[in-house]
Amino acid sequence: MKFFKIFARNLIQGPSTIAFPFAPAWTPERLRGRIVFDLAGCTGCRACEQVCAGGAIRFDKTPQGLRFMMWHNTCVFCGLCTFYCPTKAITQSDDWHMAHAAAHKFEMAIREVIPYTTCSVCGLKTLASAPNPVGVVPPFSAEEIEQHRQLCAGCRKKAMAERGATS
Ligand code: SF4
Ligand code: SF4
Repeated sequence: MKFFKIFARNLIQGPSTIAFPFAPAWTPERLRGRIVFDLAGCTGCRACEQVCAGGAIRFDKTPQGLRFMMWHNTCVFCGLCTFYCPTKAITQSDDWHMAHAAAHKFEMAIREVIPYTTCSVCGLKTLASAPNPVGVVPPFSAEEIEQHRQLCAGCRKKAMAERGATS
């Protein structure tokens, strides 16, 4: 008799699970999912590599520039890289759709190169990275960011000091 009661109750209530992947699945608010990298905002400071709990981020020097590599399969979604990134060039989306066939494992990575450029003031070979610091007052204009991208670290430091003196 008890069985029929449970059977009737379940029949009325309907299924408790969802038919994923044939139906959309609920994503919790503020879920820490797939890493997103913005090459234009990265200064190549390598803080994300230093703090990465899973060892998923690695930088290598190449003839073209500083190569950023991030392996989604190794990421533990701790969020440390996004917390410590000074320019918010690395962020976490709420995308958790990362199941893949073993044959596609090498595609589960972000590969970008921050190119070298020549400093427009002293001629030194330097990273064409954008100093886009968060919270600087007054904030950088797009034109200023473009100008600073052409400077080496030393000349950038001088330019920043002059900017501070005139603002
Ligand atoms: S979320 Fe954590 S494990 Fe994943 S890349 Fe960032 S620091 Fe590394
Ligand atoms: S700017 Fe952000 S993403 Fe780029 S190296 Fe530094 S911490 Fe990593």
